[in-house]
Amino acid sequence: MIATLSKIARVGVITEPARPSSDAELEKVGTEIRGVIDRRFRGSLAIRQVDAGSCNGCELEIHALNNAFYDIERFGIHFVASPRHADILLVTGPVSRHMQHALLTTYQSTPDPKWVIAVGTCAADGGEFGVSYASCGAVSNVVPVDAVIPGCPPKPLHLLEGIMSLISRSV
Ligand code: SF4
Repeated sequence: MIATLSKIARVGVITEPARPSSDAELEKVGTEIRGVIDRRFRGSLAIRQVDAGSCNGCELEIHALNNAFYDIERFGIHFVASPRHADILLVTGPVSRHMQHALLTTYQSTPDPKWVIAVGTCAADGGEFGVSYASCGAVSNVVPVDAVIPGCPPKPLHLLEGIMSLISRSV
């Protein structure tokens, strides 16, 4: 114990300082989005995420929106388990042939009015996978798409900006 304490005293803190728990750009976009959601969606926007064939790179960035740094629930955005509760489908792709029917069913199960956002280069145009025996390519080849958030993968802040852009013009 004494050896451990003396080593701590000798070495000191060697880890990198923690990032601040928020940054100005995130707060700016978040405050804007909170205002739109309060005015137009009665304070709550529900998103169902659909992985239609992604490599999971896009999912990592989408999941980050719920971590302690981004914490987007404070802006009124909630991820939901059922498309029946969703306002927006956030779809990553390319759409694999195996997921084509599931994506279409999910779209049909989402109540109107609804919007679809294609997230990432693969969802936008099929990316390097294109259209093949295994891939339908872009999300828009399977269901109507209202907005595209490009990137491979898009950063969480870009995801928020894309959602903001859609809901600002769509209602
Ligand atoms: S856009 Fe990039 S990160 Fe997203 S699914 Fe395609 S390859 Fe993966």
